[in-house]
Amino acid sequence: MNFIPYGRQNISEKDIDAVIDVLKSDFLTQGPRVPQFEESVARYVGASYAVSVNSATSALHIACMALDLKAGDWLWTSPNTFVASANCALYCGANVSFVDIDPKTYNMSTTALEIKLKKAKAEGCLPKVVIPVAFAGQSCSMAKIKKLSEEYGFYIIEDASHAIGGHYKEHKIGACRYSDITIFSFHPVKIITTAEGGMALTNNENLADKMRLYRSHGITRNEHDMTKCSEGGWYYQQITLGLNYRMTELQAALGISQLEKIDDFVACRHKMAMRYNEKLSGFPFALPHQENDGYSALHLYPILLSESAQRKSLFNFLRDRKIGVNVHYIPVHTQPYFQNLGYEIGDYPEAENYYTRTLSLPIYADLTTTDQDYVISSIREFFR
Ligand SMILES: *Cc1c(COP(=O)(O)O)cnc(C)c1O
Repeated sequence: MNFIPYGRQNISEKDIDAVIDVLKSDFLTQGPRVPQFEESVARYVGASYAVSVNSATSALHIACMALDLKAGDWLWTSPNTFVASANCALYCGANVSFVDIDPKTYNMSTTALEIKLKKAKAEGCLPKVVIPVAFAGQSCSMAKIKKLSEEYGFYIIEDASHAIGGHYKEHKIGACRYSDITIFSFHPVKIITTAEGGMALTNNENLADKMRLYRSHGITRNEHDMTKCSEGGWYYQQITLGLNYRMTELQAALGISQLEKIDDFVACRHKMAMRYNEKLSGFPFALPHQENDGYSALHLYPILLSESAQRKSLFNFLRDRKIGVNVHYIPVHTQPYFQNLGYEIGDYPEAENYYTRTLSLPIYADLTTTDQDYVISSIREFFR
């Protein structure tokens, strides 16, 4: 029996050929495929602008920069996420705080958000940016968050690293109907991959322009952005401090090819989740709850055990059987780096409690029925 990871890429011969074609072409970076991939993703999700980058972490960073997040500002996100959702605030010199999760969806609780906003307003420390994270591929209650953003005046960056291919209400996740910017990750464990890679979507041209500038050294070749007339065809100006966060042609070619299969990938994940739902009902753990106003991309299939000791022994039991179960997530504020910044254990009890009992089962497009049955029968054996 091979090792069964919790998530992995699906790479076809067509994907491989697409990358090889780039290697034989004139451009390894900054050629035609990067804008083509951007247009394809923008069209797929129904957003006006797409800015590709070398990771979702970079996308979060330039999104914060474009929204002018800086020292003295506050950014709020969920504690139940990968550390990158919070680190982007720190890169900009801003402060980060967290909003506890809803115990049913494991997404940012809009009730907790509203309470925290009321208190912050009274204390004069409202956030400039809130980053809801579509955990496991399921959209947050974006309509409610959008309403609160209008009432309290904050920007929304939706971290949809788990969620490309999903829907929320009548739109694809990434359409930015409820966010200023939505970001995706193309890491190999996510829904589609470019090896490393990410993208920021927006319907705001000004934000898109700024993100493009920050992605590439703060350099412009557009004369209307320059401080004076161009000196000739070679001329460019650095007009702000940017980074090199560009995606390569190799990554974009892989992304274009992967995007053609995205609906199949997500449908596959739904089929697998349905099999888990069927065959794992009646066990002493909770199955992931699905809201009825959306369609999850199902990046993860987290079960929730009744106590932490049992989670640990089930984790070890399955790992011994070469099943790569994992835990998503260790609450960000409990990480040593954040502890050193003064965040307290106990501040976000729902996320902390959830963390002690959760376990992500394998789910990915290439997971075979045989392997999934092996996961299921191993769980059955554990509880026998
Ligand atoms: C994977 C992930 C990221 C970071 O993505 P990279 O492309 O690896 O930088 C950010 N946020 C969440 C929620 C993620 O799962």
